[in-house]
Amino acid sequence: MKRVVLRDEFREADIRPAGAYHQYQEILEKECRRFFGGRQPDLGARCRACQAALYSVFERWGALYGRCEQCLSLFVLPQFSDEEARNLLNVPGMGELWREQIINPSSPERMRLMIQPRIDWLLEVKDQYAPQARCLIDYGSKYPQFLEGLVQAKEFDRVTSVDPDWRLGNTPWPDSVEKLSVGSIGINGTDLMAAFDVLERVHDPAAVIGWMKSCLRPGGLAIVTTALSTGLEYLVLGAKAPNLNPIERRNLFSLEALSDLLTRHDFELLELSTTGRLDVELVARAMEEHPKDFQRTFWWYFFHHRGPEALQALQEFVQQHQLSSHCRLVARRLGS
Ligand SMILES: [Zn+2]
Repeated sequence: MKRVVLRDEFREADIRPAGAYHQYQEILEKECRRFFGGRQPDLGARCRACQAALYSVFERWGALYGRCEQCLSLFVLPQFSDEEARNLLNVPGMGELWREQIINPSSPERMRLMIQPRIDWLLEVKDQYAPQARCLIDYGSKYPQFLEGLVQAKEFDRVTSVDPDWRLGNTPWPDSVEKLSVGSIGINGTDLMAAFDVLERVHDPAAVIGWMKSCLRPGGLAIVTTALSTGLEYLVLGAKAPNLNPIERRNLFSLEALSDLLTRHDFELLELSTTGRLDVELVARAMEEHPKDFQRTFWWYFFHHRGPEALQALQEFVQQHQLSSHCRLVARRLGS
């Protein structure tokens, strides 16, 4: 199975302007505390990957995170519907804040650091594993520029977006991209399906994997990115991880659980890489913000007594050994 390491300059502030993103998190925290404050965590809930029991590990913004005792995946408790999640995010001004103060000002850097690399990766995957593919479905689309780039590449006859991110508002879409709902996609007919940063924020990620399988023709490819519980960021920081929020990071599979889940849905993994580039920066920042939580630990010593070269080497190490908190994968649907 293929495993890649990405080496480029990438800082969180490039894609998330600090002031506006902090404001976004403050609003979300307030909404989460209001929502979860009146609810009891369902400690009898089972792991969504392997069905084993969960035990409580930490609280974040009023929600409890439960860890699977077998596969180490993390899930927010109590669980809640996709509609409730959308309502939590859909407070007045949130969409405008997201678009006008976070996405738009960082658009050139997002294009260079995130969107174009995804376009390039998807086209490489097509070239390597499915050169005959003519149709692509992007589920939960977040960036019209991503779809525009794929249309302009002229590699597909049809590019479809299913259930795009509501925060896009009235953002213009490329004319040639069709927009459909989950229920209107036929079975066994799609060559490629992309789901970028979706599994971590839906009510039932296993159902999404099952739905993708049903839409793909045998031999078709699922192209997925998601956050993982077994990366440096979440294993070291837990509740102190700066970007952890119970709405958009509600399911964090372990690397092994995600791999097993895909195998159980009759997918063959062709690539599984943890290509995150922000773990070390985020851990360093959290240690500065919460020194008492980490003093005298190995990691505190490392971050305070080693220089930039060691930090860069650590980020490369976590990618090489599948220990970053962000993964990308390509899986082929088996069967006939
Ligand atoms: Zn599990």
